[in-house]
Amino acid sequence: REKVARITTGSKNLDRLLGGGVESSAVTEFYGEFGTGKTQICSTLAVTVQLPPESGGLSAGAIYIDTEGTFRPERISEIADHRGLDPTHVLENILVARAYNSAHQELIIRELGDYLRDGKYKLVILDSAVAHYRAEYAGRGTLAERQQRLNLLMHQLLRLAESYNIAAVITNQVMATPDMFFGDPTRPAGGHVVAHTVTYRVYLRKSGKNRIARMIDSPYHPETEVVFMVDEHGVYD
Ligand code: ATP
Ligand code: MG
Repeated sequence: REKVARITTGSKNLDRLLGGGVESSAVTEFYGEFGTGKTQICSTLAVTVQLPPESGGLSAGAIYIDTEGTFRPERISEIADHRGLDPTHVLENILVARAYNSAHQELIIRELGDYLRDGKYKLVILDSAVAHYRAEYAGRGTLAERQQRLNLLMHQLLRLAESYNIAAVITNQVMATPDMFFGDPTRPAGGHVVAHTVTYRVYLRKSGKNRIARMIDSPYHPETEVVFMVDEHGVYD
């Protein structure tokens, strides 16, 4: 069995919170309100995974599943340029899959193994995991089917992460006020479908220009809260 590897987030503080960076063979969820930096973290990781190991990367590419149409190649270029990498080369090593609805998202995940086999990609990003389901099931009486589909999806993702020793990162937008799906955002209630399958859960919030990350419910991480920043160069501190 291959050794667990880690990818730097671009922030030393956030890396420390995660125990050294985003971990392979695991699913890491970043959740929080709009604008808390979830997509910025994903964009930065799609670049930093390409760094050599001595710089916090895995010298590998990323698969970026974009469900909201918020992937921006020009942001990737800026982040890469800022870290001394060739933007064109970095973009070539990111396989972008736009998922247009939940069924399409599930199809992409099902076929992911074909792309992970040769070891070219060591990071899979799913930004956002839940948005399509939230939209498609809005206003429906029963959430059982939605939960079942999301659970299956998360299990498939975790199995892929473990089988290929890659890192999986998912995002999840939650509301500041309790909503029907998620309840209190900091306290994953019964409605939080992905909580049980996800290995690490990080709650993000804004504090002025800063971002605060909190590790939720992990007995292995001594530090509970850290501060980091996001700007046009991606994540840093
Ligand atoms: P959502 O839930 O809506 O998808 P998110 O958590 O993905 O939100 P991001 O898009 O990652 O949020 O973060 C947006 C924030 O990142 C902005 O509010 C801003 O503070 C910062 N940001 C993004 N791009 C830039 C940029 N080019 N220059 C400066 N700051 C930026
Ligand atoms: Mg986003």
